[in-house]
Amino acid sequence: MKIFLLALMLVVSCCGVRAQDLAVVNAKVYTSPDSPPVNKASVLIQAGKITAVGRHLTIPPGVKTLPCDGCVVLAGFWNTHVHFMEPKWADAAHLPAEQLTRQLQEMLTHSGFTTVVDLGSDPSNTIALRRRIESGEVAGPHIYTAGIPLYPKDAIPFYLKDAPPSVVAMLGQPATPAEADTLVKRNIALGTDVVKLFTGSILTPSHVVPMRLDIVRAAVEEGHRHGQLVFAHPTNLEGTRVAMEGGVDVLAHAPENLAGIDDAFIAQLVAHHMVMIPTLKLFSQDADIANIRAAVKRFHQLGGPLMFGTDTGFLADYDMGEEYRQLSLAGLNYREVLAMLTTSPAQRFRVSEHKGRVAVGMNGDLTILSADPASGDPSAFTQVRYTVRNGRVIYRSH
Ligand SMILES: [Zn+2]
Repeated sequence: MKIFLLALMLVVSCCGVRAQDLAVVNAKVYTSPDSPPVNKASVLIQAGKITAVGRHLTIPPGVKTLPCDGCVVLAGFWNTHVHFMEPKWADAAHLPAEQLTRQLQEMLTHSGFTTVVDLGSDPSNTIALRRRIESGEVAGPHIYTAGIPLYPKDAIPFYLKDAPPSVVAMLGQPATPAEADTLVKRNIALGTDVVKLFTGSILTPSHVVPMRLDIVRAAVEEGHRHGQLVFAHPTNLEGTRVAMEGGVDVLAHAPENLAGIDDAFIAQLVAHHMVMIPTLKLFSQDADIANIRAAVKRFHQLGGPLMFGTDTGFLADYDMGEEYRQLSLAGLNYREVLAMLTTSPAQRFRVSEHKGRVAVGMNGDLTILSADPASGDPSAFTQVRYTVRNGRVIYRSH
């Protein structure tokens, strides 16, 4: 019996358990984007859930405490636009766990991301990666995935033309609403969570092909029938308009080509309850970047919700500093950026009861910085000291 128990404990401690106990003591804690910080506060996580937050907490004996002088504790960050499509993720089902953990740290968890949304990759691979993370074998963020995106017929973007033919062959190009419906069903059958459409596909740098409205509608209807959010890559006015009229929920980028996109049109996007992921770093070399920032700010001023996302994984440079700098240049303050990273995506994904705030009952997902974003320096968001998911430290800076 003893041997059996010991074996069980070894199994439990080596793998399979990701929910842990942890105490973060004597830190500055932002419980939500619109609450004042609590100084010298502690956060207690038990069995992966936050069980106490505040000053003068009694930490039960045996609970691991993080050395955390000067720590600034925030709810775990989301990145709502990433991709697991680089060759290093291939065969995620069989790569060594330590390698996957390291790759996830380099790409995502070193920036504090505890939840990410993959907007296009091979679903069989990404779902294998997710399974290994959720089993506790690999330390990483929670992954939502779109699986295979849908493109307009004969309009694969020029920047994907050099992808391996096997990858290009996989990309969905529905010619009819029925085909769109089938492709969405196929993704969902593999275990995907959201739908991704290229409603404005960049065939060549000067030629953007919009998706047919009836095809957008069919894909959106099927996604919504399964309770899924639908994301679109809009590119220009036409690609944004078909997304809006077709019922798409989230613009996966700010429109990059602003011709014809005026305040009245932006107000229509807001009236259609659309959400926008700015991805400003991606456009930071555009001559028009100041106007793209202005369009993001206008959308937000008119009541449009924003979510943080960067196209990381399509962008091979994993540094987040430029995105935070651009959001600051767009006129968003640190509380607005924090909402983009936490409460806003949690609300859209209907998981606000578990994620987005540091409060009792929430998942023990924390992003712990060594600098305070309230300082006004946007790079504070990149000074990640620990990333904690379900009470488990999945990244530490040293
Ligand atoms: Zn992307």
